[in-house]
Amino acid sequence: MATKKAAAPAKTAAAPAKRASARSANVFLGVDVGGSGIKGAPVDITTGELVQPRVRLVTPEGAQPDAVDEVIGQVVASFTTTGVVGLTFPGVIIGGAVNTAANMGKEWIGVNIAEKVGARIGRPVRALNDADAAGIAEMRFGAGRDEGGVVIMITFGTGIGCAVFHDGVLLPNTELGHLELDGKDAEETAAARVRDDKGLSWKDYAKRVEKYLRHLDQLLWPDLVIVGGGVSKKAEQFLPHVKTRCKVVPAKLFNDAGIVGAALAAAGR
Ligand code: BGC
Repeated sequence: MATKKAAAPAKTAAAPAKRASARSANVFLGVDVGGSGIKGAPVDITTGELVQPRVRLVTPEGAQPDAVDEVIGQVVASFTTTGVVGLTFPGVIIGGAVNTAANMGKEWIGVNIAEKVGARIGRPVRALNDADAAGIAEMRFGAGRDEGGVVIMITFGTGIGCAVFHDGVLLPNTELGHLELDGKDAEETAAARVRDDKGLSWKDYAKRVEKYLRHLDQLLWPDLVIVGGGVSKKAEQFLPHVKTRCKVVPAKLFNDAGIVGAALAAAGR
């Protein structure tokens, strides 16, 4: 008892420094690479909050490996974080290597992006698919929190990305955005980019999303579908027109989900 009492003041005195180090130990840099922008921010992985405003730079024309790598380096250099960096890429990533690149330069295929970026920034990099990262973040902090069963996150952006979970466990690198719909790659008819390119009204876009989600539902019978990507900020414009058997809800982290998921991956969570 006497020893415990004697130690108490020292404990109190050391507390603020401990808190400070505990906080920075929970902060990881997440970088989200997309067909139109490359964005990053340090994230508190215990809360999912960005601890500094994010930086967004435009993806270089053609999205070639060296040019994209350079911009990723600029995003990383905008922050003072140290340690592992989490990085997303819009394609299948196995062991850090890019296996597909539907909306990026094809030269990426076969490149180990984790090693390439790691060599540039002189830090370890953990790379994963962008939609998987967004899904991980939504399951931890957003619309998928505490949701069991089969949950599918679909991101509508330049392409269509997806992340499939069963009882919270991710099946990595699923590519359901490339399902065939009306004889075409679904991404070519229902990605958010198509709405912009064709100037579709939200109601007309909703019809395409509905057709896609119904097709997905017939194949996988999910308990919940979370709709993310850029359009999730405008969910009230089109989701009310989307009628499906399965429950469909908008994402809660909007466009930051990829950054947050990348940071979680960096932390190994
Ligand atoms: C890619 C996916 C990616 C999605 C969203 C698709 O074209 O094949 O890997 O997750 O776009 O960026």
